Formats: sequence, structure tokens, C-alpha cells
Amino acid sequence: MKGEQVNEQSPQSVIEGLDFWRQLPAPQQPSWPDKDVLDHVLAELAVTPPLVFAGEADALRARMAAASRGEAFVLQGGDCAETFADATADRIRSKIMTILQMAVVLTYGAALPIVKMGRMAGQYAKPRSSDTEVRDGVELPTFRGEAVNAHAFTPEARTPDPWRLLQAYHSSAATLNLIRAFTMGGFADLRRVHEWNKGFMSNPAYKRYETIAQEIDGAIRFMSAAGVDFEALKTVDFYSSHEALLLDYERALTRIDSRTGQPYNCSAHFLWIGERTRQLDGAHVDLLSRVRNPIGVKLGPSTSVDDALRLAEKLNPDGEPGRLTFITRVGASKIREFLPPLLAEVTKNAAPVTWMCDPMHGNTITSGSGYKTRRFSDILDEVRGFFDAHDEAGTVPGGLHIELTGDDVTECLGGSEEIDDVGLARRYETLVDPRLNHQQSLEMAFAVAEMLHT
Ligand code: PEP
Ligand code: MN
Repeated sequence: MKGEQVNEQSPQSVIEGLDFWRQLPAPQQPSWPDKDVLDHVLAELAVTPPLVFAGEADALRARMAAASRGEAFVLQGGDCAETFADATADRIRSKIMTILQMAVVLTYGAALPIVKMGRMAGQYAKPRSSDTEVRDGVELPTFRGEAVNAHAFTPEARTPDPWRLLQAYHSSAATLNLIRAFTMGGFADLRRVHEWNKGFMSNPAYKRYETIAQEIDGAIRFMSAAGVDFEALKTVDFYSSHEALLLDYERALTRIDSRTGQPYNCSAHFLWIGERTRQLDGAHVDLLSRVRNPIGVKLGPSTSVDDALRLAEKLNPDGEPGRLTFITRVGASKIREFLPPLLAEVTKNAAPVTWMCDPMHGNTITSGSGYKTRRFSDILDEVRGFFDAHDEAGTVPGGLHIELTGDDVTECLGGSEEIDDVGLARRYETLVDPRLNHQQSLEMAFAVAEMLHT
């Protein structure tokens, strides 16, 4: 078949292959009302500068490979759906702060370097379980992320608008610029992040983590006394990621690397394929099989061992370390049955993958008062099940994938501050899935550090 992948490819067939997905079923794509406008926008996107560079994606692939071997641990976190309005310096800074603070705690708990990755600078498209939403007898298209339409429940807002793809690109560029400035400009200084964590621990609600907090403090004082060069710890590598959902956008940002002649998706360092679009013969898997970035696939409870093995073969035919991450997201009640056979068979029959746990998407419930929420205790329980299963299988737990924000929202139930059903109404802001707030995110890091620290 024209464009089908073969091992030795000419530059022309590599480029043609990047459009092969157009012949395949592509679920979750918007119904754009005006094809001419879409084509115009895509032509503009195709000549924009890359947001990330091939060499950076290669560096992340090496870090993901280290995580697959137990030499690093990945923390991937951010909003379910970013919004253009929230791409402000304050909101982005607090999200980065939250991830850096969690990373310091996890560095100690795991005794490993933490690979820091935001669900940031591109997470503007959402898969939905239904094409339309009905309210008071009115039926409109569902909200598919701000790269597609707006959230307000009006026909104008919900009509997909291709110009939003360009806005998503510019918003991603602005966000990435801030990420680079914050993580390279001294803001990420280990001593400063540690001081922020001391602020968190001054709240008596977190007394149960005092021992580990004191141990971390002691470790930093020891480093200081031993003459560690803190100047070298002022900057951190921070990678961007999002779900590769809108294939027109992802294709327009896929570029040929001038060093190697290989295609890279330059919209983010790491892309993942969602649970709803991971069909083996589907368009999403095909396009991502052809780019060199490190990539992930979400695996929900319906994933069979055979699905996982065939995905591994298709997405990582050369068995390249760090290339493929499986992100399991099955729920606290299923993880302990789901994971052991999968770990055993993938380990036996496929090239090494990096295993990550998304403890969010299998634990979504509707609260008594009608909010889409998640219990902090379920989230932690899935993480614990993930670590236990790896422990028993002798495989490596490579990282966590978390929906979080740096703000003081009230979207998930529980945590030591005990957000209850009534409390959810106080500040429920997410446009799609509920996120851990700043405090809950740090508490999670301390709880996970306790699980890891033996
Ligand atoms: C998400 O990550 O927001 C998401 C939709 O996840 P999943 O594909 O695992 O359902
Ligand atoms: Mn989500």
C-alpha cells in the first residue's frame, strides 16, 4: 500500500508516510464547519517555527529509557484541559512550582533523579464520550478543548473554529517560553524549592509527613555542609507533553530534522495516545508510529495483553529504549488484577517499555451534589497498587501521570484538608476533569515518597 512503513525508507517515502493516517479511521476529530478556513489555518501552522527541537526530544527519550531501567522516575503533571485565559504568568508559575516541589520530595523518596514533564504548553484538545451535550432540551456539540471550541453552552461557542488551532499554537509558545524562563533562570533553585516545601509543612494538617520532611531538611543541610555546588542545582530540565489528538494540528507541527532527516513532532517533547484513540489500525497510532519523539499510550481496563503487545510492536518495532511508555489508568479497584498479567507478558514478549501510572482517569465518580470528582484516597490507592504489582513482578515503576494545578481549587475530594461534597462548590473551575490542587499535589508527593522510601 502506498505510504506503508518499510524499514529502509527514502526521504520522499518518509514524508509521504506522514500523511498515511488520512486513509485510516480517525476517531475524535472535530466536525469543522468550513474546510477552506481549516486548510488556510493548517497552511499557516505548517510554516510556524517548531515549539521544541529534535535534540530535546532525543534527550527526553534517553531520560525515559533511564526511567524504564529504574535509574530515574518520571513526574508528568498538569491540567486535564489547559485554557487560553489561564496561560498567565501567575498560573503557569504556580503549576511549575507545584511540580518542582513534588519533584524534590519524590527525589528523596525514590532516591532517584526525577524527570519533570508538564501536561502543559499544548494540552488544548479533549476526547469526549459523546459528540453532543443536552441541557434543558437544547442539544449542542460537546466541548472538545479550546483548540476546537469554547466551553460556554451557546451555539456560537460550541461551533468548532479552525482559527483556534493557531491560537493553541501561540498559547503553547507563550507557555513554553515561561517554562523555559522559570526553569533556567534561577527560580528552580533547589534551596528555594525546599523553602517552599517548609512553608507547606508549617500547616498542622500535614503533621503525619513530618518525619519525612525532617529527613529531607537534614539531607539538604548535609549537602550544604558537604560543599555541594548548589549553583549547579539552580536550573532543571522541564519537558512539555500533551495528548496527540487533533491529527491535522499534530501533522502540521511534524517536521523533518535537518540533522538526521527523521520526522519529529515539534509541538511537544512527549506525545501520548489517549485511551479512546489507541486503535491498532487507527490514524493516531499510525501518525505517532512515524515520529521519533518518545511517546506514550494510555491503557484502560479493557486493554488486553494482546492489544498491548501489538501496540508495542507497532510503535516501537526496533525496541528502542525510552521510545514507548505505557500509562495504565484502570482505577484503584482494578489495578491489582489488571497489572500483573500485563507486566508478565509484556516483559516476556516485548521490548522494554517505561511503565507509568495515571491514577486519575480510572477513579472518576459523580459526587452526591453532582460534581465530576475523584477521591484522594482512591488516587493514592491506585498508586500503591501500581508499586505493589511492579514489586511482585520484579519490573520497574517508571513514573506518575497526574492531573493537577498550582491553584487552590476544590475539585477532588479528601486529602488532609478534607474537601467534602459541599466543599467542592467553593472553587470548582476545571472545564473537563477534576485536578488535585496545590496542597493535595504536595500531599500526594509526600505520601508517595513514604511508599517508596524504605
Ligand atoms: C486525559 O488524559 O485527560 C484523558 C482523556 O485520558 P484517557 O485517554 O486516559 O481517558
Ligand atoms: Mn483528563
